[in-house]
Amino acid sequence: MTALTALPPLREVIAKHGLSASKALGQNFLFDGQLLARIAAVPGDLRDAEVFEVGPGPGGLTRALLAAGARVTAVERDRRCIPALAELAEAYPGKLRVIEGDALDTDPASLFDGRPHIVANLPYNVGTALLVRWLSADWRPWWQSLTLMFQKEVAERIVAAPGSGAYGRLAVLAQWRSTARIAMTVHRSAFTPPPKVMSAVVHIEPATAPAGVDFTTLERLTAAAFGQRRKMLRQSLKAVPGALDALATLGIDETRRAETVSVPEFVAIAAALDAG
Ligand code: SAM
Repeated sequence: MTALTALPPLREVIAKHGLSASKALGQNFLFDGQLLARIAAVPGDLRDAEVFEVGPGPGGLTRALLAAGARVTAVERDRRCIPALAELAEAYPGKLRVIEGDALDTDPASLFDGRPHIVANLPYNVGTALLVRWLSADWRPWWQSLTLMFQKEVAERIVAAPGSGAYGRLAVLAQWRSTARIAMTVHRSAFTPPPKVMSAVVHIEPATAPAGVDFTTLERLTAAAFGQRRKMLRQSLKAVPGALDALATLGIDETRRAETVSVPEFVAIAAALDAG
């Protein structure tokens, strides 16, 4: 019998430890072992790989990651979950390290010698903030890949192409030096309790960073451009010093709107700003 089959069903764990779902903590739990195994398979072969998980809760995804052979470090804010996770750590000696705390106050890079995969069914209220933080790391980043559950609408914004309504700052930040794709959509009924909207798992892998572009410049540029997304660039980028000159030099028509500007074009504008 493997450790996974020897474990009590997750619903029993929830009942035993009184883990009624807290809305404030974004708790929507997954219990379906097959679905969890599919999510854990998204990053690829995890045998002996290090994984950082945010918000293990009662440990459903954690179980799937451990069963896939990963060594997991998990940060959980809800103190009630810690005893349940300690039982899981006992079933997988030396494979699960649980840290009680807020992921927003944790410096995960310092927890690993190598480059972990990050895999998480994120609490929706902090998901985007964590994603932007991980995308703003020094490149190549301290993580190997990101496999993250988001509300489907947020996932679509991360992978969006120019010209679509979903295309914006998040797409540019996620795609300018990474590849981002939706690995699977997850029906709301898979969660307990079910959230109001559908979800999707996004997979992001770092790619080569274009030379001469600072993350903060790109962030400032996209914040200005998409802050007034219906306006022409000559209006939305007016307050960014040097941006209109950069458009002229690069031959980018200043009457275009931000949502038509491709990721390489944003990168070129940012590079011109950093060079100037
Ligand atoms: N991983 C579990 C699963 O898939 O069933 C639970 C996912 S639930 C959507 C989000 C989890 O994140 C909850 O366990 C919640 O307590 C935890 N959480 C919420 N905010 C957090 C934070 N700031 N830092 C760490 N964990 C947090």
